[in-house]
Amino acid sequence: MLRVNPCQRPRSRPGTQWAPNETQAYFVLREESEEASAIHRAPVERQQEFWASRFHDAGWQTDRFIEGMKTSPFFYSQEVVQVRTDTWSKGRVVLAGDAAHCASPYSGMGVSGGLVGAHVLAGEINRHPGDLPTALANYDRVLRPFVNEIQGEVNPRLLRLAMPMTQRAIDAFRATAAVACFLRVPGLAARLAKEDRGGNWQLPENPAPTSTI
Ligand SMILES: Cc1cc2nc3c(=O)[nH]c(=O)nc-3n(C[C@H](O)[C@H](O)[C@H](O)COP(=O)(O)OP(=O)(O)OC[C@H]3O[C@@H](n4cnc5c(N)ncnc54)[C@H](O)[C@@H]3O)c2cc1C
Repeated sequence: MLRVNPCQRPRSRPGTQWAPNETQAYFVLREESEEASAIHRAPVERQQEFWASRFHDAGWQTDRFIEGMKTSPFFYSQEVVQVRTDTWSKGRVVLAGDAAHCASPYSGMGVSGGLVGAHVLAGEINRHPGDLPTALANYDRVLRPFVNEIQGEVNPRLLRLAMPMTQRAIDAFRATAAVACFLRVPGLAARLAKEDRGGNWQLPENPAPTSTI
């Protein structure tokens, strides 16, 4: 089971965007216990105790991050999952965004998926005014290939590789990351990454609204 828990330094000015000197720190844990799966529903203090108990002797700057977590107003803790379902609607109820096809934060496509889905749903409702079953069936048919594509980009095996469980694997991971940073691989990968995700899928043109259902 994958878990993520960012803690951040407080913003310098309330209501502003992150300042360049502010830091986000993430604790990531592979654990399949019932406690780990349920902890994000517990009161915040208990969640923070859980994370502190798992990371208290991890070395490097971890103690500083644990202290920061306790006072951060932006503490967040969640189980990392990916929603895959064959059905996005029932009657007049329809799922969109994460509720329909959460792509996992590791894909970087959650917001795009939600916006594209909302665009397709609005288009189909406008294309079939007065015929909601057809509109919702088309929403599924048109959007599904795009969702399959972006969900398929998250490879669980690669994620497990990035969360090593033994000291030897951790050392190997750190050495690899150090070499990659020295060779500026992350910047190069960002420059070479394709901007257009979703394969050959094309965003449909939406008709102008004609009437309400
Ligand atoms: C740590 C992390 C990092 C991420 N990084 C990225 C990234 O880099 N790029 C990217 O594209 N995506 C990223 N995502 C994913 C992205 O945040 C989501 O895919 C996106 O926010 C989904 O939007 P949504 O509107 O479907 O759902 P949400 O943003 O979850 O909105 C649902 C809303 O419904 C509200 N709600 C829930 N239950 C009820 C209820 N019963 N009554 C009323 N309101 C309710 C919630 O409070 C929430 O405001 C990340 C996610 C996480 C957790």
